Amino acid sequence: MAAVCRDHSSNRTEVESGVVKAPVVIVGAGLGGVRLAENLRNGGYEGELVLLGAETHPPYDRPPLSKTVLTGDDERVDLKPAEFFDDARIDLRTGSRVVAVDPASHTVTVERDGAAQPVEYGTLVLATGLVARRFPGADGIAGVHVIRTVEDALALRTDAGAATRAAVIGAGFIGCEVAASLQKLDVPVTLIEPTPTPLSGPLGPRIGEMVTRLHVEAGVDLRVGVGVDEIVADEGRASAVVLSDGSRVDADLVVVGIGGVPDLGYLDGSGIELADRSAGGGVACDGVGRTSAADVYALGDCANWHDADGRGHRVEHWTHTVDAAALVAAQLLGHTIPHQTVPYFWSDQYGLKFQMLGTPRSDDEVHVVDDDGRKFLAYYSREGLLTGVVGAGRVGKLMKARQYLLTPTPIASLLDA
Ligand SMILES: Cc1cc2nc3c(=O)[nH]c(=O)nc-3n(C[C@H](O)[C@H](O)[C@H](O)COP(=O)(O)OP(=O)(O)OC[C@H]3O[C@@H](n4cnc5c(N)ncnc54)[C@H](O)[C@@H]3O)c2cc1C
Repeated sequence: MAAVCRDHSSNRTEVESGVVKAPVVIVGAGLGGVRLAENLRNGGYEGELVLLGAETHPPYDRPPLSKTVLTGDDERVDLKPAEFFDDARIDLRTGSRVVAVDPASHTVTVERDGAAQPVEYGTLVLATGLVARRFPGADGIAGVHVIRTVEDALALRTDAGAATRAAVIGAGFIGCEVAASLQKLDVPVTLIEPTPTPLSGPLGPRIGEMVTRLHVEAGVDLRVGVGVDEIVADEGRASAVVLSDGSRVDADLVVVGIGGVPDLGYLDGSGIELADRSAGGGVACDGVGRTSAADVYALGDCANWHDADGRGHRVEHWTHTVDAAALVAAQLLGHTIPHQTVPYFWSDQYGLKFQMLGTPRSDDEVHVVDDDGRKFLAYYSREGLLTGVVGAGRVGKLMKARQYLLTPTPIASLLDA
């Protein structure tokens, strides 16, 4: 196994020698799987490369689903042009779900068209993303939706066309985006969130208040500090939700935006270690994606990577997945790659681009440095040092602040400037 050393002064990760063994089999033909396959080919890997995807579509991107696909503004989601996979000699097998992994024999079992078949690997990479968390007892009720797949987004859009009122359960990033998209489609929305403000979980209550005013200004009926006890159905179709304070919100469209979970049943019996749920769950990995089994790696939403101080965490961000795919490819090929040290996330709501750089926490100190009542920019700090920058509609200013997150920067030096 190659040794890995981080050189923080030069901001690069060095890997001593490649460890890739053919064939490489990637489970999950989403963002992480496709990026890894592409990086391996671009990096000079010439061996067999198999990309197994449970869905029947060509690989697609998820961020547009809650934005332009839901509003109907732009339906393009393909991650790559159709010819890419043949040109890159990537054996893409859609409709192929991995149901078991056996590290001892280096074999996965794939179900396709109802038949199971073994596929041998030299190197295995797990990039199976998440499944949407469902509302208990609501399966089968017409008008109740989650949004994780392209089918989910299209079904939601179809129902939105006939809806009189929507309830969106959960004001995290996806719930907020769905609320904004439904408002754009002229569907009146009630957005329900158990914490004191939208997004207060990741961003804290102060920025949560600034997000609140955007929703309220757009006409969303925002209910905070309450959960949902029940989705009420009338003749099999959603008609209302009952909140934990006993109130009732009429809704013939209900969107459940309460997060996602890794679906790792296919690892049962494999012995591959999973992370504790209290640390976010997922496949337990070291800092470069190696799992507890030889020649098996994991990346993207399903993976729980250890950071430099040994803490495991699972990140559900597009850019994090792209960076992880580059790092795993470099690790496999023995290449040196620039190590991305500034995490980045974005979200689109009400015509504004929300962006987050760094690792802000909800209990950090928040310094709002720009606020025009709608657009804003804020620095986050912990123990006197800048930890993150969050903005809405302040793309240029936010990206300019990225430099301050590359090295420890006293917050005072930014506030005095
Ligand atoms: C609606 C929505 C909006 C988002 N918006 C943003 C955003 O604005 N900004 C941002 O930073 N991030 C956003 N994200 C998150 C981002 O899309 C994810 O972080 C990213 O897709 C993770 O890539 P992945 O490859 O790990 O997983 P995925 O893209 O989910 O791909 C995993 C693939 O594995 C397949 N699979 C699962 N199990 C198996 C199996 N057993 N066998 C074979 N295949 C399997 C799945 O079908 C899926 O196609 C959004 C996500 C969603 C759902």
